Amino acid sequence: MSSRAHGAALLSGLRATRAIVDLDAIAGNVAIVRRHLPVSTQLMAVVKADGYGHGAPWVARAALDAGVAMLGVATVSEGLILRAFGIAEPILVLGSVDPGEVEVGCRAALEFTVTDLPLLEAIQRVAGCTLQPVRIHVKIDTGLRRYGAEPEAARRIVARVGADPRLQLAGISTHFASADELDEPFTAEQIRRFEAACSMLRRDGISLPARHAANSAGILTHRGADYEIARLGIALYGVPPSGEVDFLPGMQPAMSIESSIARLVRIEPGDTVGYNRTFRAESRLLGALIPVGYADGYRRSFSGKGWVGMNGEPAPVLGRVSMDQIVVAVPEGTAAAPGDRVSVLSNDAMSGGPAVADLARLAGTNTYEILVGIRQRVPRVFVRGGEIIAVRAVGRTDMTDWGAER
Ligand SMILES: *Cc1c(COP(=O)(O)O)cnc(C)c1O
Repeated sequence: MSSRAHGAALLSGLRATRAIVDLDAIAGNVAIVRRHLPVSTQLMAVVKADGYGHGAPWVARAALDAGVAMLGVATVSEGLILRAFGIAEPILVLGSVDPGEVEVGCRAALEFTVTDLPLLEAIQRVAGCTLQPVRIHVKIDTGLRRYGAEPEAARRIVARVGADPRLQLAGISTHFASADELDEPFTAEQIRRFEAACSMLRRDGISLPARHAANSAGILTHRGADYEIARLGIALYGVPPSGEVDFLPGMQPAMSIESSIARLVRIEPGDTVGYNRTFRAESRLLGALIPVGYADGYRRSFSGKGWVGMNGEPAPVLGRVSMDQIVVAVPEGTAAAPGDRVSVLSNDAMSGGPAVADLARLAGTNTYEILVGIRQRVPRVFVRGGEIIAVRAVGRTDMTDWGAER
């Protein structure tokens, strides 16, 4: 079968509402960030929360192929999913780990972020389960007050790692609180605290492992925080961390969501649309039913405010967003027919659909929460080199081998 025919076969039987994940955009974003960073800085692609909703294994593979050195996840199980997909590259668990998860994580050769002795002791109880030493990153709290050790506690953890040949000190890290806010002096203060902690360790005779501090916002705005590894999250997906941070030229959003018109609905003056009748028509309208709703992550707070792109024009949501569907107004002068594609989430200016940042503003949240909120019910269609290379459709029984499609 040709790759094009293969792609078409993958689409057969798929629901109309689907997320298209452009793996070339992922690769392009990696290349752009790479050029922006010193050559001595390696990239970690952060693919937690299913790759910010994009489909972690495919994003991870694309990012690794484009030159990132390692992956970051939030939980042990997220790391295991990547291993099950055949990814053998280094994976760091960025978040806290329950002692009960340590052994399975260790066997999968995951690297751990440690901020206290109880976790380190749990790791020491199972260290030796693999031939290679367990790689430990010690995270220092420089002001986020979340998951990080006070410098003195970090010092004790580092000493203990150094004394155990089954462990290897692989990294020293910290995390910024406000790098996505322009002219926020606290980031520079956190860098100062991090450097002070690193100097203290050096004075203890520790030869420092890879240091890492920057998230996407840090990468985009704080050249002093590159160190040996930079942790690229939201910008990998082509989405800015906040409205205050400028993007690098050429960065492209990887995800778009499309759907299609399921049916047309005549709406007469005085008619109301949807639950609780929050929209009342003043003139005759043509409504279009789109099969997307809050159970897909198309939030109920878009009611009466959201829009989809139809023939390059915005088509506003009429009334309430339901669990599984919305009705939008067909724009004046637009020929619309059942089956016509619409843009629910746009990654190009021509579609008339909203960008991630638009949806975040409508919902009063950040771009991250919109992306990770897109539910598994929305199939992910992975495109590389203009061809569909894989589809992940939960519940489609002919696709149980989804890990094999690459
Ligand atoms: C999520 C996360 C990142 C990535 O942050 P972005 O803002 O998405 O770039 C980096 N480091 C840690 C510790 C994280 O938890």
